[in-house]
Amino acid sequence: MLDQPIILLVDDQASDLRVLGQALEGLGEIHAATDGQTALELAQHYRPDVILLDVDMPLMDGYSVCEQIKIDPRLAHAVVIFVTSHRQTEHELRALKLGGADFLHKPINLPVARARVEANIKHLRAVQQLAYYDPLTRLPNRMLLLNRVRQALASAQHQASLVGLFSIDLENFKALNDSEGHAVGDALLQETARRLVQCCQSSDTASRAGGQRFMLLILSCNNLAELGHRAQQVLTTLCVPIMVAGTRYDLGACAGIGTFPQDSQDAESLHEHADAALYEARQAGRGQYRFFNAAANDSVRARHQMERDLRAALEAHQLDVFYQAKIDLAAHRVIGVEALVRWPQADGRVVTPDRFIPVAEASGLIVPLGEYVLNSACQAAKHWGEQGYPVSVSVNVSPIQFHDSHFEDAVQHALSSSGIAPGQLELEITEGVLAGEVEETCRTLESLRGRGVRIAVDDFGTGYSSLAYLKRFPLDVLKIDQSFVRQMLLDPKDAAIVETIIQLAHALDLQLVAEGVETPRHANVLYKLGCYVMQGYLYCRPMTCSQMTDYLRCPPAAVAGA
Ligand code: C2E
Ligand code: MG
Ligand code: MG
Repeated sequence: MLDQPIILLVDDQASDLRVLGQALEGLGEIHAATDGQTALELAQHYRPDVILLDVDMPLMDGYSVCEQIKIDPRLAHAVVIFVTSHRQTEHELRALKLGGADFLHKPINLPVARARVEANIKHLRAVQQLAYYDPLTRLPNRMLLLNRVRQALASAQHQASLVGLFSIDLENFKALNDSEGHAVGDALLQETARRLVQCCQSSDTASRAGGQRFMLLILSCNNLAELGHRAQQVLTTLCVPIMVAGTRYDLGACAGIGTFPQDSQDAESLHEHADAALYEARQAGRGQYRFFNAAANDSVRARHQMERDLRAALEAHQLDVFYQAKIDLAAHRVIGVEALVRWPQADGRVVTPDRFIPVAEASGLIVPLGEYVLNSACQAAKHWGEQGYPVSVSVNVSPIQFHDSHFEDAVQHALSSSGIAPGQLELEITEGVLAGEVEETCRTLESLRGRGVRIAVDDFGTGYSSLAYLKRFPLDVLKIDQSFVRQMLLDPKDAAIVETIIQLAHALDLQLVAEGVETPRHANVLYKLGCYVMQGYLYCRPMTCSQMTDYLRCPPAAVAGA
């Protein structure tokens, strides 16, 4: 709520001051000065809302005082009412030009003076309410908060004290507002505002920053531990369920904290840091708070930047799909290729998928990205088929893409538009996909296999330990993870794992591919254990579609003579 108005009376006649003071009693907090200089000092100190200013004073007249007040941004909002015995028009015009709002003529008619001041306060309040307060919660808005933060930082600098700014978000608000209607949404926001005010000490400011976002400016803490304690109290208060018309709503809240002078030197960065810390708090989960952390912020920024760049690259078709051959050593030929996405940069560097796939997954970009790879791979398979090399293509599918409701349509579209036989397409899923919702996963896999598409489990052995899913899900291929292949010549335990995976695949009638085959010794050992299909640098590195065409036309001796 708005504080009671502050009224400054300025007149060199002490008797005038006295009667005016009596006439205005009860309208606000009244201060008085008998000369211009003192008036300015009191104004600086008390920041009055209304100033009754005598025009004729020795040394500094009312006009000069008004001029000084109007050029000071912290005082300019004050309503200046001139008190004068002059009645000439030019005086009134000058007063208005200087920013005066009204006149009282001497001798003062006290009831009129009171009514004028009252009317001006009311008007000022209405304007302030609109400009500085959120109409729904009646909390200070972003603008007023920013003013208060600036003032707080100025005085904290002097007193070497601590200022904290909490950025608070309500977790389920958006969903509840959409499902329960705006009346419930408004009631939840109003109750949240009431609780925030309850948590405030007299020097603190609670503010609504828009939507379901609130801010709390804390001036009453001596150290970071105390600030953390206050944050916990606020979150505990906000996380108590809210009853609206007999229904219980669980909102949940989390908070980010920016601090002056620890991490921020000005109001803008304090705000920014509180928001950045809120992002971290949200990741941490319900009811959590986080202090701003510069290193975490840098990585969040870098991620956001990468997301923007990746989106642009995807829209501009700047991603490349590379291909790596899979060699059947028993048949001496390339039986398939795996599609591996690449992101070339303007400076010639190429970003590999392990760096940008997680960003694509977190942002949802993986769905269009995955479709792009799927379509490119099917078109490439069609091209190689036309050249006389009917190889299959394997495409990596992220769990998010797999569970997307349009995934099967995307697969069907890639098959129909390329015209390749469904058996030429293999989808590589990870154990993470199989660990999800069993029935839905089974349905999707069966439907894909029903179309003739083959399913491989990628990086086998690195995911979840349950082997039961090998029996439960319709699968065609296991790809032995390259970490086991790499280590199997060095560590007998890895060798044992590889051997077990190979036996398991034979027992369950699944085909096998070994990844990361880098040396002839790897290939020999795997072959002897019963794994005949190899993928790795020994045979080829991932390459462009046209390089792969050459490779298929003219495979190296390691393939043909294997
Ligand atoms: P992955 O599917 O297991 O692919 C095999 C990775 O091992 C590829 O890395 C490949 O370049 C690399 N590799 C192949 N042979 C050797 C070898 O002999 N030695 C070594 N050290 N590495 C070898 P890449 O291309 O960096 O891809 C990494 C991972 O990113 C892939 O692992 C796959 O999980 C993911 N990925 C790649 N393309 C896509 C895509 O289009 N969509 C999705 N969702 N994920 C993709
Ligand atoms: Mg793969
Ligand atoms: Mg793999």
